[in-house]
Amino acid sequence: MNKQVNTASPLNNPSVLPCYPIKDIACSPVLVVAPHPDDETLGCGGAIAMLRSLNCDVRVFVISDGTLSHPRSLKYPAPALRALRESETLSALSVLGVEANAVTFYRMQDGSISAQYKSAIVNCCTYLTEISPQIIFLPWRYDPHPDHRATWKLIHTALVELHLCPRLIEYPIWDWDQKQRENLPETLKVTAWRLHTASVVELKQQAIATYRSQITDLIDDDPEGFRLTAEMLANFTHPWEVYLEETR
Ligand SMILES: [Zn+2]
Repeated sequence: MNKQVNTASPLNNPSVLPCYPIKDIACSPVLVVAPHPDDETLGCGGAIAMLRSLNCDVRVFVISDGTLSHPRSLKYPAPALRALRESETLSALSVLGVEANAVTFYRMQDGSISAQYKSAIVNCCTYLTEISPQIIFLPWRYDPHPDHRATWKLIHTALVELHLCPRLIEYPIWDWDQKQRENLPETLKVTAWRLHTASVVELKQQAIATYRSQITDLIDDDPEGFRLTAEMLANFTHPWEVYLEETR
């Protein structure tokens, strides 16, 4: 019988994880990769604000266009929804201290990054070569959302192709939902830690609030439209952020 050995997720009890100050990761440039417009702010908003307060160069790369959040809205058909979500991202990042010219929207079709990722590798290689980041924040490779896992794979594959080895810091999003959270495979050695972000929590909350399409009834004509619940949002407004890194 094939026996799968698993390790409990560190997200079960984040308060025991070691907590480090921003100076431990301050460098330039730093790249934050988001599968959807909002993941950068939810997962890394505190880190982004603190790095910018230290004048670090922070770039943001948003992979998908986010148009699957309200696929049946007549008020916001895909092009309008894309424009809305991109404007929300720019507003959120402006609150966190990142200017629009540091943000790149790659506009892959929301929900199918996995199906398109091979054709995107060349463009990602070009982008990564231009930026040459020292640290990349990217989605946790085992996030329950397929677009998040595919984004990790896209960036990881491009880095292997380029022989680039920046520090990779992974951020969880949907693992915070207990119903979706899975244990870690025993084969992967992971270090989980927290970044102390107390001084920028209010700023992060303001940035999250700009994502009105995702947290309010702004788009009210799609009964199946996506909405981040208050319960889910509460996971992102602690005075710390949790990150995961493969132990080398
Ligand atoms: Zn996402």
